[in-house]
Amino acid sequence: MNLGRFEEERKAMVELLRRRGIKDENVLRAMEKVPRHLFVPEAFIHYAYDDSALPIGCSQTISQPYTVAYMTEALEVKPGDKILEVGTGSGYQAAILAEMGAQVFTIERYEELLKTALETLSKLGYKVIGTVGDGSIGWSEFAPYDGIIVTAAAPKLPKSLVKQLKVGGRLVIPIGDLDVQELYIVKKIDENKLSIKKKFGFKFVPLIGKEGWSENTSRNNGK
Ligand code: SAM
Repeated sequence: MNLGRFEEERKAMVELLRRRGIKDENVLRAMEKVPRHLFVPEAFIHYAYDDSALPIGCSQTISQPYTVAYMTEALEVKPGDKILEVGTGSGYQAAILAEMGAQVFTIERYEELLKTALETLSKLGYKVIGTVGDGSIGWSEFAPYDGIIVTAAAPKLPKSLVKQLKVGGRLVIPIGDLDVQELYIVKKIDENKLSIKKKFGFKFVPLIGKEGWSENTSRNNGK
Protein backbone atom coordinates (compact mmCIF):
# COMPACT_ATOMS: atom_id res chain seq x y z
CA MET A 1 0.00 0.00 0.00
CA ASN A 2 1.40 3.39 -0.99
CA LEU A 3 0.99 5.45 2.21
CA GLY A 4 2.69 8.49 0.67
CA ARG A 5 -0.10 8.77 -1.84
CA PHE A 6 -2.81 8.68 0.84
CA GLU A 7 -0.99 11.36 2.82
CA GLU A 8 -0.88 13.63 -0.20
CA GLU A 9 -4.56 13.02 -0.92
CA ARG A 10 -5.39 13.79 2.72
CA LYS A 11 -3.56 17.12 2.55
CA ALA A 12 -5.45 17.98 -0.66
CA MET A 13 -8.74 17.08 1.07
CA VAL A 14 -7.90 19.43 3.95
CA GLU A 15 -7.02 22.24 1.52
CA LEU A 16 -10.42 21.77 -0.10
CA LEU A 17 -12.10 21.97 3.34
CA ARG A 18 -10.25 25.25 3.98
CA ARG A 19 -11.43 26.63 0.64
CA ARG A 20 -14.98 25.57 1.49
CA GLY A 21 -14.80 27.71 4.66
CA ILE A 22 -13.70 25.44 7.51
CA LYS A 23 -11.58 27.61 9.81
CA ASP A 24 -11.05 25.67 13.05
CA GLU A 25 -7.38 24.65 12.89
CA ASN A 26 -7.95 21.88 15.45
CA VAL A 27 -10.55 20.27 13.19
CA LEU A 28 -8.33 20.65 10.12
CA ARG A 29 -5.30 19.24 11.99
CA ALA A 30 -7.30 16.18 13.12
CA MET A 31 -8.59 15.59 9.59
CA GLU A 32 -5.07 15.81 8.24
CA LYS A 33 -3.96 13.18 10.75
CA VAL A 34 -6.74 10.54 10.76
CA PRO A 35 -6.36 7.98 7.92
CA ARG A 36 -9.89 8.01 6.41
CA HIS A 37 -8.89 5.24 3.99
CA LEU A 38 -8.76 2.80 6.93
CA PHE A 39 -12.43 3.49 7.74
CA VAL A 40 -13.83 2.58 4.31
CA PRO A 41 -14.26 -0.88 2.78
CA GLU A 42 -11.30 -2.04 0.64
CA ALA A 43 -13.38 -1.63 -2.55
CA PHE A 44 -13.67 2.15 -1.96
CA ILE A 45 -10.19 2.84 -0.63
CA HIS A 46 -9.21 4.84 -3.72
CA TYR A 47 -12.13 7.22 -3.18
CA ALA A 48 -11.40 7.69 0.53
CA TYR A 49 -10.20 11.30 0.16
CA ASP A 50 -12.87 12.45 -2.30
CA ASP A 51 -15.30 14.88 -0.69
CA SER A 52 -18.13 12.38 -0.77
CA ALA A 53 -20.03 9.94 1.43
CA LEU A 54 -19.20 6.25 0.79
CA PRO A 55 -21.00 2.97 1.56
CA ILE A 56 -19.82 1.09 4.66
CA GLY A 57 -22.30 -1.83 4.69
CA CYS A 58 -25.75 -2.33 6.32
CA SER A 59 -27.03 0.31 3.80
CA GLN A 60 -25.18 2.99 5.79
CA THR A 61 -22.49 5.52 4.86
CA ILE A 62 -19.38 7.24 6.16
CA SER A 63 -20.27 10.95 5.98
CA GLN A 64 -18.73 13.32 3.47
CA PRO A 65 -15.51 14.97 4.82
CA TYR A 66 -17.01 18.49 4.51
CA THR A 67 -20.00 17.43 6.61
CA VAL A 68 -17.72 15.88 9.27
CA ALA A 69 -15.61 19.06 9.35
CA TYR A 70 -18.64 21.38 9.48
CA MET A 71 -20.36 19.44 12.26
CA THR A 72 -17.17 19.09 14.30
CA GLU A 73 -16.45 22.81 13.98
CA ALA A 74 -20.00 23.57 15.10
CA LEU A 75 -19.55 21.33 18.15
CA GLU A 76 -16.64 23.55 19.42
CA VAL A 77 -14.75 20.61 20.92
CA LYS A 78 -12.14 21.26 23.58
CA PRO A 79 -9.60 18.72 24.91
CA GLY A 80 -11.15 16.74 27.76
CA ASP A 81 -14.75 17.37 26.64
CA LYS A 82 -17.11 14.45 27.10
CA ILE A 83 -18.81 13.93 23.74
CA LEU A 84 -21.63 11.56 22.76
CA GLU A 85 -21.78 10.55 19.11
CA VAL A 86 -25.02 8.98 17.91
CA GLY A 87 -24.37 6.83 14.81
CA THR A 88 -20.86 5.33 15.01
CA GLY A 89 -20.96 4.04 11.42
CA SER A 90 -17.35 3.53 10.32
CA GLY A 91 -15.86 5.15 13.45
CA TYR A 92 -14.26 7.98 11.43
CA GLN A 93 -16.11 10.84 13.17
CA ALA A 94 -15.27 9.28 16.55
CA ALA A 95 -11.59 9.17 15.55
CA ILE A 96 -11.64 12.88 14.64
CA LEU A 97 -13.16 13.73 18.04
CA ALA A 98 -10.67 11.51 19.89
CA GLU A 99 -7.77 13.02 17.91
CA MET A 100 -8.96 16.45 19.15
CA GLY A 101 -8.61 15.22 22.73
CA ALA A 102 -12.27 14.55 23.49
CA GLN A 103 -13.47 11.66 25.62
CA VAL A 104 -15.75 9.92 23.13
CA PHE A 105 -18.84 7.78 23.77
CA THR A 106 -20.50 6.41 20.65
CA ILE A 107 -23.67 4.45 20.04
CA GLU A 108 -24.68 2.53 16.90
CA ARG A 109 -27.75 0.43 16.10
CA TYR A 110 -25.89 -2.13 13.94
CA GLU A 111 -23.66 -4.45 15.96
CA GLU A 112 -21.65 -5.35 12.85
CA LEU A 113 -20.74 -1.70 12.17
CA LEU A 114 -19.92 -0.99 15.81
CA LYS A 115 -17.60 -4.02 16.01
CA THR A 116 -15.62 -3.05 12.89
CA ALA A 117 -15.46 0.60 13.96
CA LEU A 118 -14.17 -0.20 17.44
CA GLU A 119 -11.55 -2.56 15.97
CA THR A 120 -10.29 0.14 13.59
CA LEU A 121 -10.25 2.75 16.35
CA SER A 122 -8.36 0.48 18.71
CA LYS A 123 -5.76 -0.44 16.03
CA LEU A 124 -5.12 3.27 15.59
CA GLY A 125 -4.78 3.77 19.35
CA TYR A 126 -8.00 5.76 19.92
CA LYS A 127 -9.76 5.01 23.20
CA VAL A 128 -13.43 5.29 22.33
CA ILE A 129 -16.25 3.72 24.34
CA GLY A 130 -19.02 2.26 22.22
CA THR A 131 -22.25 0.35 22.56
CA VAL A 132 -25.04 -1.06 20.44
CA GLY A 133 -28.39 0.61 21.00
CA ASP A 134 -30.91 3.26 20.13
CA GLY A 135 -29.02 6.54 20.33
CA SER A 136 -32.16 8.60 19.62
CA ILE A 137 -32.72 8.36 23.39
CA GLY A 138 -29.05 9.09 24.09
CA TRP A 139 -26.85 7.15 26.49
CA SER A 140 -27.94 8.15 30.00
CA GLU A 141 -25.27 6.10 31.79
CA PHE A 142 -22.51 8.62 31.00
CA ALA A 143 -24.63 11.81 30.81
CA PRO A 144 -24.38 14.79 31.01
CA TYR A 145 -22.23 15.54 27.95
CA ASP A 146 -20.34 18.70 26.91
CA GLY A 147 -21.40 17.96 23.36
CA ILE A 148 -23.65 15.60 21.39
CA ILE A 149 -23.26 14.96 17.67
CA VAL A 150 -25.91 13.02 15.77
CA THR A 151 -24.80 11.69 12.39
CA ALA A 152 -28.23 10.54 11.20
CA ALA A 153 -31.33 12.64 10.48
CA ALA A 154 -34.19 13.01 12.96
CA PRO A 155 -37.76 14.20 12.29
CA LYS A 156 -37.59 16.52 15.34
CA LEU A 157 -35.31 17.44 18.22
CA PRO A 158 -35.01 14.40 20.54
CA LYS A 159 -35.92 15.52 24.09
CA SER A 160 -33.67 12.88 25.68
CA LEU A 161 -30.61 14.30 23.93
CA VAL A 162 -31.39 17.85 25.10
CA LYS A 163 -31.81 16.48 28.62
CA GLN A 164 -28.44 14.69 28.51
CA LEU A 165 -26.60 17.87 27.45
CA LYS A 166 -24.78 20.01 30.07
CA VAL A 167 -25.80 23.64 30.46
CA GLY A 168 -23.47 25.50 28.06
CA GLY A 169 -23.13 22.34 25.92
CA ARG A 170 -23.88 21.94 22.22
CA LEU A 171 -25.96 19.48 20.25
CA VAL A 172 -25.40 19.21 16.49
CA ILE A 173 -28.12 17.28 14.68
CA PRO A 174 -29.70 17.14 11.20
CA ILE A 175 -33.48 17.60 11.33
CA GLY A 176 -35.97 17.45 8.50
CA ASP A 177 -37.70 14.98 6.20
CA LEU A 178 -36.03 11.94 4.68
CA ASP A 179 -34.86 13.77 1.53
CA VAL A 180 -33.17 16.88 2.89
CA GLN A 181 -32.45 18.31 6.31
CA GLU A 182 -31.32 21.41 8.17
CA LEU A 183 -28.38 21.10 10.50
CA TYR A 184 -29.45 22.35 13.94
CA ILE A 185 -26.70 23.75 16.16
CA VAL A 186 -28.35 23.81 19.56
CA LYS A 187 -26.83 25.47 22.61
CA LYS A 188 -28.26 24.78 26.05
CA ILE A 189 -28.36 28.22 27.69
CA ASP A 190 -29.98 26.95 30.89
CA GLU A 191 -32.22 24.03 31.87
CA ASN A 192 -35.22 25.65 30.12
CA LYS A 193 -33.66 27.70 27.35
CA LEU A 194 -32.03 26.74 24.05
CA SER A 195 -30.50 28.82 21.29
CA ILE A 196 -30.80 27.20 17.87
CA LYS A 197 -28.95 28.08 14.64
CA LYS A 198 -29.91 26.27 11.45
CA LYS A 199 -28.05 25.61 8.20
CA PHE A 200 -29.96 24.25 5.24
CA GLY A 201 -28.93 21.66 2.69
CA PHE A 202 -27.73 18.42 4.30
CA LYS A 203 -28.62 14.84 3.45
CA PHE A 204 -28.20 12.07 6.01
CA VAL A 205 -29.39 8.50 6.46
CA PRO A 206 -32.36 8.36 8.90
CA LEU A 207 -32.04 8.18 12.67
CA ILE A 208 -34.17 5.14 13.46
CA GLY A 209 -35.48 4.77 16.97
CA LYS A 210 -37.85 5.85 19.71
CA GLU A 211 -37.17 9.59 19.21
CA GLY A 212 -36.27 9.24 15.52
CA TRP A 213 -38.02 7.65 12.53
CA SER A 214 -39.76 4.33 12.84
CA GLU A 215 -38.20 1.58 10.74
CA ASN A 216 -41.38 1.30 8.61
CA THR A 217 -41.65 5.02 7.89
CA SER A 218 -38.04 5.16 6.78
CA ARG A 219 -38.47 2.13 4.51
CA ASN A 220 -41.38 3.88 2.78
CA ASN A 221 -39.31 7.06 2.53
CA GLY A 222 -41.55 8.97 4.92
CA LYS A 223 -44.70 8.51 2.82
N1 SAM B 1 -20.43 8.93 12.06
C1 SAM B 1 -20.34 7.91 11.06
C2 SAM B 1 -18.97 7.77 10.47
O1 SAM B 1 -18.07 8.55 10.84
O2 SAM B 1 -18.79 6.86 9.67
C3 SAM B 1 -21.36 8.11 9.96
C4 SAM B 1 -22.56 7.41 10.29
S1 SAM B 1 -23.87 7.16 9.18
C5 SAM B 1 -24.05 8.63 8.27
C6 SAM B 1 -25.18 7.20 10.40
C7 SAM B 1 -25.18 6.02 11.32
O3 SAM B 1 -26.23 6.21 12.26
C8 SAM B 1 -25.43 4.68 10.65
O4 SAM B 1 -24.38 3.81 10.90
C9 SAM B 1 -26.74 4.20 11.29
O5 SAM B 1 -26.82 2.80 11.46
C10 SAM B 1 -26.72 4.92 12.62
N2 SAM B 1 -28.01 5.06 13.28
C11 SAM B 1 -29.24 5.34 12.76
N3 SAM B 1 -30.16 5.42 13.75
C12 SAM B 1 -29.50 5.18 14.91
C13 SAM B 1 -29.90 5.13 16.28
N4 SAM B 1 -31.16 5.34 16.68
N5 SAM B 1 -28.95 4.87 17.21
C14 SAM B 1 -27.67 4.65 16.86
N6 SAM B 1 -27.23 4.69 15.58
C15 SAM B 1 -28.13 4.97 14.62
